[in-house]
Amino acid sequence: MKEYRNFETKVIHQGYDGKDMLGSLVPPLFQTSTYAFDSAEQGERRFSGEEEGYIYSRLGNPTVSILEEKIAALENGEKGLAFGSGMAAVSAVLIALTKANDHIICSSGLYGCTFGLLSMMKEKYNMSLDFSEMKTEYEIRNLIKPDTAVIYIETPINPTMRLIDLEMVARVAKEFGIPVVVDNTFSTPYLQRPLELGCDVVVHSATKYIGGHGDVVAGLAVGKREFIDAVRNTTLKDIGGIISPFDAWLLLRGLKTLPVRLDRHCENAEKIAWKLRIHPKIKRVYYPHDNENPDFELGKKQMKKGGGMISFDINGSKKDAQNLLNHLDFIKIAVSLGDAETLIEHPATMTHAVVPEAERKKMGITDQLIRLSVGLENWEDIWKDLEQALVRI
Ligand SMILES: *Cc1c(COP(=O)(O)O)cnc(C)c1O
Repeated sequence: MKEYRNFETKVIHQGYDGKDMLGSLVPPLFQTSTYAFDSAEQGERRFSGEEEGYIYSRLGNPTVSILEEKIAALENGEKGLAFGSGMAAVSAVLIALTKANDHIICSSGLYGCTFGLLSMMKEKYNMSLDFSEMKTEYEIRNLIKPDTAVIYIETPINPTMRLIDLEMVARVAKEFGIPVVVDNTFSTPYLQRPLELGCDVVVHSATKYIGGHGDVVAGLAVGKREFIDAVRNTTLKDIGGIISPFDAWLLLRGLKTLPVRLDRHCENAEKIAWKLRIHPKIKRVYYPHDNENPDFELGKKQMKKGGGMISFDINGSKKDAQNLLNHLDFIKIAVSLGDAETLIEHPATMTHAVVPEAERKKMGITDQLIRLSVGLENWEDIWKDLEQALVRI
């Protein structure tokens, strides 16, 4: 397959050439569950791996393959794999990398269901977990044990937007041969590429910016050829969290505009973050490229732009936070993120309600904290909607 150099061209052309598909400009949708063999012998060769080709759509599908090649190229990794949800990708990767009694080191903030998955693995398989802010090499070295199987990171950390130095963590982990997995959902490969910084595996909820239109739930993973093949043949194939061909097709459509959309998400978010910061009813704003963020310098180094997600603490109570949400006009009260529509939510009672209160407090998730996924609307309209609701609390 032809290789393209620049991101904006890759999102459109990498992994697909219409010449093989009757000139179809857009990748065709192969809505099929299975593939007929020319002969019994061909079936044997396909199953033995002697001959390449499709067998059954849980093992591979041509529309899905185009998506997998594209995401691998965008993350600058060897191979990609698509899943039916972000959690299907996270669980397939974590289960593939661990066994009973292993130790896992994670970032101090995690997506709620990833926290739930790890808690379940800990109980069922007698694993141990350590949460860390990973601010220094010393902190990481101190946590590593002989049975540490994986370091699992989200950066920016949801919802407080603290960052972890991926290059530093990867360097320490390499010394001990421990794989580093990064959930890159908030940044997408347009803003941050963990594999280029030495990390081993990237996972995504493609439901968010990659799909970008609020109409798909899907996941992706990218890593070394050998690892991705192993996941395909075990925790994807045998647990079965595959993506539907139609959802892969929708992601291919969404990806074409990823850089254009993200440029606008970031531009809008920077302006809204600045407006929030000077508003008297706002106590604190959390945004990666805000110079009040303690990780501002790292943000500049590691992320191309600050992203489309902002969190903020209001001066007031939980009731005031809920009232703010209730008084909005077009901004929608919804979890998820990365859509064209601006979405707002209350982490303590929604996305992070599953995290025990003590943990929540440690993570900086107060009852006054609000998370905003800045959409693609006119930024002044977004601000006007927020401002009129702020006046009423
Ligand atoms: C949404 C999300 C997930 C889970 O993805 P689904 O597609 O909902 O299964 C994982 N990680 C992060 C950071 C997310 O935002």
